[in-house]
Amino acid sequence: MPDKPKQGLDRRDFMIASIATMGASTVLAANAGPAKAQGTAASSGATSGTVYTGDVVDGKKVVSALDVNDLEPGKKHFLYFQGVEMPTGQHWLVSVTVAKGANPGKRGVLTSGVHGDEMSSIHTVHTVMNQLDPAQMSGSVTAVTDISRPALESMQRRWPNSGRGIDLIDMNREWPGNENGFTAPSRHAGLVFNRLLKPNADFAIDFHTGTTGFEVTAFNIAEMDIPEIKAMVDLYPVGQIFDNPTYPSVLHNAFNAAGIPSFCPEIGAARHLDLEMISLFVEGTMNVLKHHGILAGPVGRTGKDVTVFVGNSSFPILATAGGIVEHLVKLNDKVEPGQKVAVQRNSFGEVVAEYTSGVAGEITGQRSDVLSEPGNPLVFILFHQAAPEANETYPE
Ligand SMILES: [Zn+2]
Repeated sequence: MPDKPKQGLDRRDFMIASIATMGASTVLAANAGPAKAQGTAASSGATSGTVYTGDVVDGKKVVSALDVNDLEPGKKHFLYFQGVEMPTGQHWLVSVTVAKGANPGKRGVLTSGVHGDEMSSIHTVHTVMNQLDPAQMSGSVTAVTDISRPALESMQRRWPNSGRGIDLIDMNREWPGNENGFTAPSRHAGLVFNRLLKPNADFAIDFHTGTTGFEVTAFNIAEMDIPEIKAMVDLYPVGQIFDNPTYPSVLHNAFNAAGIPSFCPEIGAARHLDLEMISLFVEGTMNVLKHHGILAGPVGRTGKDVTVFVGNSSFPILATAGGIVEHLVKLNDKVEPGQKVAVQRNSFGEVVAEYTSGVAGEITGQRSDVLSEPGNPLVFILFHQAAPEANETYPE
């Protein structure tokens, strides 16, 4: 649909022109504070300095743009960032925690909640932030754990957009977003990326888990041929790495496209806290902060202390029938080509499908919902091949 961007620009120009001719006294004065983030959409990405809207919610000041350089050093700051508007005209606010070191240094960004059902990723970021003492830090760490607020409110993966009735939009296909986009989540992504995340990141980590009904191992998604990314990912005592560029529109790739090294940890199953896995990612993330000089002290366990399986490809096994799925292997198990990994039975208990691995690799994801329709992914097997395909499907 090549004509869409042009339409969008035309419409925006028209709106700006309309406001100008209506006389600024009523329209602009009434909206000066809260509307600013969206009213200045034409300058997307040109954030300079922190903009306070004047609102205070639950004791937290609201910003429509953030530059951590403006914040007082040596303390933690708790803010709300003003995202896109809801249908009622109120804004989706996302929570922002900044640990601003006493000394200057690199700026890290930690994010979660791009998908609304991924709880262990949120807890990982909370745990890291709660361990930070700004008085002992050089640089800053900015955390946002509820990026897709409306998805989180119902603990579901996707954003319930009201475009044509309720559309469920996967916000991890929207980055870097568009402040003049055709959906609210696209605009929200644009605001969050341009005015909150990108301006405050020398590196960034976007935490995820498996999705509802499909659990995954502990693994990192990363382009290991980029030295700055490999240096960080190697610091995680986590047993699998998916070394693949994945979709361009995921958040960690938007950072990479902006020249900010980034990767994506995946922390087990959705909807619950896996404290054992979380501790591995907390340790790895603290190592990354030490690597960048934000924290002092010795590095903990890393990839050198565990057996790490690196694959550049993900072999999907899709259901060919409807029925009850029984897995014959477990997450992290090694499998061989031809090895049977799952069976499926119909309502009579008869076997209707048997599923075998096509590759030698390790199980990295399994459908955890027992019933399945045809076409659903049942298993993902991490493996290595000489020429991996671009934009593969993978468990996320
Ligand atoms: Zn996710």
